Amino acid sequence: MQETIAAISTPFGEGAIAVIRLSGPESIAIADAVFRSKRRAAELPSRVQQFGAIVDESGVLDEVLLTVFHAPSSYTGEEMVEIACHGGILVTRRLLGLLLERGASAAGPGEFTQRAFLNGKMDLTQAEAVMDLIRAQTDLGLRAATEQLEGRLGERIREIRDVLLDLLAHVEAHIDFPEEDIEPGTAAALRLRLEEVRGRIASLLDTADHGRVLREGLRTVICGAPNVGKSSLLNRLLGYERAIVSEIPGTTRDTIEEVVNLRGIPVRLIDTAGIRESHDEIEQQGIARTFQHLERADLVLRVVDASRPRDAGGWIECSTHDQEAPLHIIILNKNDLGEHPSWAGCDGIRISCLESTDTGGIEPLADAIFEQAMGRGAKMGDFAVAINARHQACLKTADRYAQAAGQAFVDGLSAEFISIELRSALDAVGDVVGRAETEDLIGKIFSTFCLGK
Ligand code: GDP
Repeated sequence: MQETIAAISTPFGEGAIAVIRLSGPESIAIADAVFRSKRRAAELPSRVQQFGAIVDESGVLDEVLLTVFHAPSSYTGEEMVEIACHGGILVTRRLLGLLLERGASAAGPGEFTQRAFLNGKMDLTQAEAVMDLIRAQTDLGLRAATEQLEGRLGERIREIRDVLLDLLAHVEAHIDFPEEDIEPGTAAALRLRLEEVRGRIASLLDTADHGRVLREGLRTVICGAPNVGKSSLLNRLLGYERAIVSEIPGTTRDTIEEVVNLRGIPVRLIDTAGIRESHDEIEQQGIARTFQHLERADLVLRVVDASRPRDAGGWIECSTHDQEAPLHIIILNKNDLGEHPSWAGCDGIRISCLESTDTGGIEPLADAIFEQAMGRGAKMGDFAVAINARHQACLKTADRYAQAAGQAFVDGLSAEFISIELRSALDAVGDVVGRAETEDLIGKIFSTFCLGK
């Protein structure tokens, strides 16, 4: 029989209330073993809160509100009980301990959601969206997670599967009648549909970069020569004094990393040590680290002091590495001091970190960062679907098989051969929503969840 699991579902710490969850066949019986009230948990209809007390051998432990969710209309699809108690560290621990003594076992990370998936309450993309939603750092991230939780990605995947299934059925019909080859006309029509499916897969794959930015943030490295205003820019974008700003070159020796919400996307700002020739060992290490960050950057903000002549004003090639970074923005700082004529015609964003946000050019910079990350003219609604790295891997595999199937049509290969490729494509697409997942993979996905979810 399936075990009954229990966990504290609210964060560790002090709060007005905390919620303890039970899921599994014995949930209600275990709750009733410790719950004292006018009505027993077993008598409660679904989703009706009952006030009562939790008692142990020494008396009342806490006064609580208890809710029962009868299977299958619960989050996990099993019998569930939620106990809202006072949010003290000790009281929640004692309450959980009591439930464990009465026969529940401690839930592992993500085990409630894993059960919801296994019981068919949601597909794998929706289960992943639960975690995305909890971890979302910005409005856009939250929006993408909610859309995925509502099943938007699952829908697109099912549409692709349906077309592939239909194609497979057509091709396999020819296996049953081996004497009949697929007619050239039919083969061409099937190939056309296959190309259309590949187009759909490609448009989902196109959302991977957005998905990564929304989930992990845009890795944005601020680099440039010492004293051009890198730390000032970090503080400006953050809206508070995080980094030490000083006239003394070489102040930022280590990298500083902070996340800021820019136009709805999480931007991981990394302030680096200024790049220059240095004999100071610690500064040298800081500069080496700057280069490491540049190699992994999504976006490089190259800051220069435009009040000084171009060759003296801090214009140095940050490194050869940053040429490989897909995106970069040149920032001509210290606009308030006037621009040296040698910068005329330089295509960059002119800002002043000392002036207030409206006049300092920070808003246009925020727009430029958003545009670089998400594309020009992008809007909230454009991110309804934004796939994660696992979806991307599955879809790439699916596309490889779909391409092979298309080639098999072109080469006039037998129906058996085409069907093998189509089946593999179908399996890979199915992996996105979790139809063919192995237990190992499922365990890996849910182990990244928090306890009690
Ligand atoms: P970093 O070494 O590149 O991180 O530069 P800092 O942010 O520490 O700034 C170096 C110096 O330039 C400090 O004295 C700042 O106050 C000054 N500074 C930074 N941005 C501006 C700006 O836009 N205008 C002016 N006038 N000074 C600035």
